[in-house]
Amino acid sequence: MKPAAFEYYAPVSVEEALDLLDQLGYDGKILAGGQSLIPAMNFRMAQPHALVDLNRVKELFYIKSAPDGSLLIGAMTRDVTVEFDKMVAERLPVVTETMPLVGYYQNRTRGTYGGNLAHADPTGQLPTISVALGARAHIRSKTGERWVEMDDFYLGPFTTILEPQEMLVEVAYPALPPRSAASFKEFTRQVGATPMVGVAVLVTLDDKNRFKNAKIAYLGVGEKPYAATECVKVLLGQEATAEAIRAAAETAAQKDVDPGTDIHGTADYRRNLVNVLTRKALTQAVQSAKK
Ligand SMILES: Cc1cc2nc3c(=O)[nH]c(=O)nc-3n(C[C@H](O)[C@H](O)[C@H](O)COP(=O)(O)OP(=O)(O)OC[C@H]3O[C@@H](n4cnc5c(N)ncnc54)[C@H](O)[C@@H]3O)c2cc1C
Repeated sequence: MKPAAFEYYAPVSVEEALDLLDQLGYDGKILAGGQSLIPAMNFRMAQPHALVDLNRVKELFYIKSAPDGSLLIGAMTRDVTVEFDKMVAERLPVVTETMPLVGYYQNRTRGTYGGNLAHADPTGQLPTISVALGARAHIRSKTGERWVEMDDFYLGPFTTILEPQEMLVEVAYPALPPRSAASFKEFTRQVGATPMVGVAVLVTLDDKNRFKNAKIAYLGVGEKPYAATECVKVLLGQEATAEAIRAAAETAAQKDVDPGTDIHGTADYRRNLVNVLTRKALTQAVQSAKK
């Protein structure tokens, strides 16, 4: 299939792109890496009147440290750039380790970090990790800007709080406190396939190896990245032992998630995956936080 006819704009600055988005309103659509949008257009599932291509907007391609210690990733940074970046490996090793799971190398050479987050695929690894890491989205429009917690960024499948005239310009990952570590685990039936269930955890231990803080987010158990609460209550204040981790994983599976049954697996099977993956992710994160 070929896409329906569309107008094409190739701005060279954020200002110019925001002007265009403002003029076009609901008729305009941002084109980033095109790895999801172009197939959707070819299948005519998406028929935007006009594309605003960000590939020439050089100011959106960066990875840098902010004065407050956050790590900033510009929206048009290619996935593969993030995958092999030394600062990301040092400060967000969970992102480096997970990147090879995000589709295939070929997609990642063109796909962008911001495009992935904005696409809001409910089975996307990066949105779930971003929620667990407490990341914030920097959103701009012609008339202003706002910062939004990634937890609040997602509304449902392929739906975010972005208005048509808005652009995700960057995402900020706060510096982690000492004795913190994150981990991501997923289950797929084939290498590179859509994960059935995935979990991202972030833990902080105190000097007696007790859980001082924890954030646990899931993909594949709901319509958007899901931040669990009950299993976190089980962990906080407890010594980081295998028993505490097992209890939290059990609680996550029984109380936090309410997965459905579909052709890929039953609700019970997904609950079991939640249990197993949570245990594995917490165990790895605790080991790293203790180092
Ligand atoms: C074979 C294959 C396998 C894949 N496997 C996975 C996988 O396992 N996990 C995964 O997470 N993804 C996967 N993807 C998706 C891929 O990672 C894309 O990077 C991602 O879906 C979209 O990024 P993009 O830069 O290509 O965005 P595009 O396709 O250009 O855009 C996607 C959507 O986001 C909007 N958008 C893009 N940038 C912005 C912005 N800055 N501000 C506001 N809106 C914006 C667009 O308007 C569009 O609606 C796969 C893709 C393919 C083709």
